This record gives sequence, C-alpha cells and structure tokens, in this order.
Amino acid sequence: MADIKSEIKKRRTFAIISHPDAGKTTLTEKFLLYGGAINQAGSVKGKATAKHAVSDWMEIEKERGISVTSSVLQFEYEGYCINILDTPGHQDFSEDTYRTLMAADSAVMVIDASKGVEAQTRKLFKVCVMRHIPIFTFINKMDREAMDTFDLLDDIEKELGIATCPVNWPIGSGKAFKGVYDRQKREVELFSDTRKGTTQGEVRTIDIEAPEIDEILGADAKATLEEEIELMDGASAEFDQELVSKGELSPVFFGSALTNFGVETFLEHFLQMTTSPLPRMSDKGEIDPLTEEDFSAFVFKIQANMNKNHRDRIAFMRICSGKFEAGMSVYHMQGGKEVRLSQPQQLMASERKIVEEAYGGDIIGVFDPGIFSIGDTLTSAKDRFCYEGIPTFAPEHFARVRQVDTMKRKQFIKGINQIAQEGAIQIFQEYNTGMEEIIVGVVGVLQFDVLKYRLNNEYNVEIRMENLPYEHIRWIENEEINLDKLSGTSDMKKIKDLKGRPLLLFVHDWSIRMTQERNEGLILSEFGR
Ligand code: GDP
Repeated sequence: MADIKSEIKKRRTFAIISHPDAGKTTLTEKFLLYGGAINQAGSVKGKATAKHAVSDWMEIEKERGISVTSSVLQFEYEGYCINILDTPGHQDFSEDTYRTLMAADSAVMVIDASKGVEAQTRKLFKVCVMRHIPIFTFINKMDREAMDTFDLLDDIEKELGIATCPVNWPIGSGKAFKGVYDRQKREVELFSDTRKGTTQGEVRTIDIEAPEIDEILGADAKATLEEEIELMDGASAEFDQELVSKGELSPVFFGSALTNFGVETFLEHFLQMTTSPLPRMSDKGEIDPLTEEDFSAFVFKIQANMNKNHRDRIAFMRICSGKFEAGMSVYHMQGGKEVRLSQPQQLMASERKIVEEAYGGDIIGVFDPGIFSIGDTLTSAKDRFCYEGIPTFAPEHFARVRQVDTMKRKQFIKGINQIAQEGAIQIFQEYNTGMEEIIVGVVGVLQFDVLKYRLNNEYNVEIRMENLPYEHIRWIENEEINLDKLSGTSDMKKIKDLKGRPLLLFVHDWSIRMTQERNEGLILSEFGR
C-alpha cells in the first residue's frame, strides 16, 4: 500500500479549459517541454496528439480539418506525475468536453488577455463550480495589447462569480510588456522572448527594491506598477489555500505561452496549490485514494468504432484508487460480472502506448466490447461500491429524427440507442406519444453530422433530420409534479427521456424563469442525474 500511496500522492490530474484560440494548445505544449516529454515546440500542434490512425473518425476529421477526439497526456515534472486532460474546443465541442471535467481534480482556465472571459470558458466553468474543484487562471498573450488588468479580474469575478487572487501582476502589455511582479517574493520577473521553445530560456528576476529597477522598467512603468500594487493590495482577496481547494478563490497568473514567459512560474505554483487525487463519492460513502487499497475506476468517455469491422470501442476511465495492472480482471458493477481490462492504452506526450500499470489519478483507455456505459464503476474491492454517476449535461441543439426507409425501423432504433449509450447524443420522446417520434439533443452541432454519418455507415440507415428551435433544456427535479397541470410558456415543449423522466424544452431562456414563477416549488436543473 505504501508504494501505491506514494504513487498516487505525486499525481496531479487536471483539465485545461478555455475558449478556442486563447492558447490552450500552446500552453500544454510548453508544459510538456518542461516535463521533457517533448523536446521541440510544435509537436503538439498539428493534431499529432490525436494519433488514431485507424479511426473512421479520420474521414470526418479530415473533411473538416478538426479533431473530434480528445486526449489525455501524461508526463513527469520535478517528482510529480502530471495528467493533462484536454477539452476539445471549436465546433467539436460536445458533451465529452463536459464529461472530461468529471475526471479532473482541478482545472486550469486559460484566458486571452485581450478578450477576457468568453462563451466556452463560461460553459465549462459551470461544471467546475458544480464539482467544487480548484480553478487556476492563466491570463495569456500578455505580449499582445491586453485589457486593463483590473478590468480583466473584474470580468472574471463578475462573469464567473469566483473571487480572484493575483499571484503575480503584469507590468504593461504588448510592445510595452516588461514582465510580471511576484507579489510574494516582491521581485520582478523580466520578460524575454524564448519563443524558440527551449527550456533553457533564462529568466531574469530582480528585486523590486533594487536601485536599477527604475532604469530597467522605465520610470513610468515603475510608477504605474507601484500604483497598481497599492490598489491591488487593497482590493483583491488574500491568498487562502482552503478557499482555493474548495474552488471559491482562483489564483491568477499572467504570462505569454507563445514566448514561453511565465509558464514555468505558473507550473511550479500550480503544482503546489493544486491537489493530488481527491476522494470521490460512492453509494458506500466517500472513497479516499489514500486509504482504499483496491483498484476502482469509473468510465467517463466512450470512443466508438475505432475499427469499423469490429465495432470496437475504447472506454476511457479515470482510476480513482489502487493500482491497475495490464490484463487484470475487475468487477463491472453495472454489468454485474468480472471483466478483463484488455489493451489498456495511455497517451504519453505524442504517442499512444500500452500501459503496464497505472494508479489512482491516471486515465486509461481500455477495449470495450460494447458493455460499458458512461458513469460505470469497476472495482476489485471485496466490499463493492458504485461511484456517483456522471450527470447528463444540457444539450443546446435539438432535432426530430426519423429513418427514411420505414422498413429499417429496427436498425434505426438499435443504432440510435447505441450511439446514445456511448454518450454522443441524447434521445428523447414526445411526452404523450410512443417511440414514433425521436428527438435528439446534442451539445455541439457537429454531433448531428456524426450521428447521420454513423447511422448510415455502421447501421446502413439513412435518416432525415428536422431542426427544432429549442435551445434550452431543463430537468424537473421534483418527482411529485404533475406535468399535465404544469403551466408553461408558449415556446415550451414537454418531453421525456428514455427512463420516462419529464423534461422541458424552451426556445427562450427567459421562459425558464417565467415557468418557474408560474409553478410554485418547481425545481428545474441544468444537469440530469
Ligand atoms: P487553443 O485553441 O486554445 O488551443 O489555442 P492555440 O494554442 O492553438 O493558440 C491560438 C493562437 O494564438 C495560435 O496562433 C498561437 O500561436 C497564438 N498564441 C498562443 N499563445 C500566445 C501568446 O502568449 N502570445 C501570442 N501573441 N500568441 C499566442
């Protein structure tokens, strides 16, 4: 157990969230560089991370020039074993992006200094808040003209409702960017452009009280900095590790990922402030990786059809406790039997490789013959337990779907159910009718194309889709509510999920509040349990 414990303790498993183009890939690449996992900048970009050479997805990926799949990267740095979970952005934003956050112990939020908080960050942030995991902010692109620093922090606090605590403070931005001031050390880290992407890029630091500081920064910049420090000391929250751990205070760092400035500083602080694998809730209470010796994991993502002929799938699981050994048999709680975990894979830097062993905190992908569902628990503990399920996240696009050839009803139903089981889409029915009408909800519109493509390709079923105007979905938390009596708005539609649970669809978000006001006690939720 001591070995397992020390392995788990050195693990840091986090997700990077951002709006597309804020610099997530660039920052990840610099992390890998420090970890020595890659030796040249540019290795991560160009989709080299998504080496799913035999995947049918490649066609869609190639066609659209995007990566549908997301990845996990593992590397070592200064005694830590780091797992970075990538959250896919752009058009391939999907429910998987949300689910990835369920497997992380903390999140790094990358914000473009010239743009502040953007839409996708806001969405992902909500999931982090729901989980109460620590959130760290890296304000990127300081080598470009940035928003006023106070405005940026204000934006984060107002938009996201989290207190911020700048660990360092930028001195100018764009052409006038001089570096950052470290509040605790009271020294200035001078900006230099080590874009070439080597780790040797020397960082020069200088004490804020040093006589030559005026000359180095320039009198104006120095005066502004002093003013800002004074203001900040009065205005911003003090660093409080406990609040950070609860996800109520976000430590903020400034830098420029592209020029490799502020990245190492961030990494070092972050690794100390973030957490090793956290306990997780189960039906037998909290399972703590530092006391539970046996292996346990839950499935958070299923990637389908790597090989069309076999309909193989890869189930990605987050190991929560104990040690994994290749080929081991564990109990699959939802399936009610022992399964052998075969062909375990892990992504190291830019290569996919077979893992021999892994520990709590790690992510592995195993061969799935079609038995796993999102949220399933696997464990080798004698006293078996199930981890709390993964919520269903609100889709934002809806369409009515039917098969073109009515003779193919059976394949259609089978295909659409399997695809839903993998978590790529959600399916609903009309509230009052049978299975005739199927309503599909997706988080990202690309999933509609994926659905169409896969039904055609794998199940030989052609479908017709009719887009519906709804953009908001709410689960009804109260069990006693009589849906027939519910008084809604004209743009509201009642539907149910496959378990028969009632849901409401709305075109306008203001209708949600109105419906809530009209029906006293009605509890609507953005997450389905
Ligand atoms: P992602 O979509 O969040 O993964 O963003 P990328 O890492 O792909 O970066 C988007 C663009 O911004 C690329 O052209 C990067 O070279 C550029 N970029 C990233 N970080 C910085 C930075 O610190 N400064 C500047 N000037 N450009 C950056």
